Amino acid sequence: MAGDFQEPAQLDLPGLLDALKQHLVAMGIEGVPRSTTPEMTPAAEPDTAPETEPAAAAGRPHKELALSAGEIFGAVVHDEPKDSEASGEYAGLGLDEMEKLAQGCRKCRLCEGRNKVVFGTGCKTNPPIVFVGEGPGADEDRIGEPFVGKAGALLTAAITKGLGLRREDVYICNVVKCRPPGNRTPAPDEAKACTPYLFRQLELLQPKVIVALGSPAQMALCGEPGGITRLRGKWLSWRGVRVMPTFHPAYLLRNPAAKRDFWEDLQAVMAEVGLVRKVKSEDGA
Ligand code: SF4
Repeated sequence: MAGDFQEPAQLDLPGLLDALKQHLVAMGIEGVPRSTTPEMTPAAEPDTAPETEPAAAAGRPHKELALSAGEIFGAVVHDEPKDSEASGEYAGLGLDEMEKLAQGCRKCRLCEGRNKVVFGTGCKTNPPIVFVGEGPGADEDRIGEPFVGKAGALLTAAITKGLGLRREDVYICNVVKCRPPGNRTPAPDEAKACTPYLFRQLELLQPKVIVALGSPAQMALCGEPGGITRLRGKWLSWRGVRVMPTFHPAYLLRNPAAKRDFWEDLQAVMAEVGLVRKVKSEDGA
């Protein structure tokens, strides 16, 4: 049978392949795998199994072994932005110029129902913390300032009484700058239209830490799948800046028991930015 296979040196490539095929058919082999490696290379497993993922993982389907860095180390790093062009359209603009531009913005349907564009407020130079919510509510839309309603009062109390800072020491803004009707969650296309403002704001502000208040803010910044209940308290990242996802103050108004987790997350933020809370004794000392 080997005699049927011509010497390769006498053949050009098509001839060689033809001869090889005939040889395999003669041997009764009808199909040959194209490659011994799968087309999709699964994510590499860590050299050392993380303590939080015990050896039981070895018995799981392969797909589940493709753990994200966040699941392994408690932090997810997106070195590159999700959309590298995202803030490009406002490159070169300062905060005030961009805010002026946003006042007349009609890039998404939210412009139709707004009274005021709620751009952002607070410290404009390297604030230690930027709080990002999802969108303005009725009070914010009327006044033109973020977090001024009941949820805003809760956030303000967390900043002043919890962190020991003033509102003007931090920066506060939202993913979308115009109020979604009925305070609904911003639709993905609305968030996408508006995030270039947010990304440019953050580029200019260069905060130490970003606090993502609620799932829409986390999604806009980090795009990490999973609800806020699962993600809260775990460090994520936006272009190298650490992001702490936590509950939105409006959620805390409906679920006061979650305030404990919220406070825990803020304490982690305080530690990250080097804030030491000065708690006054009862006699004011
Ligand atoms: S929500 Fe943002 S993108 Fe939409 S109209 Fe308002 S400023 Fe423009």
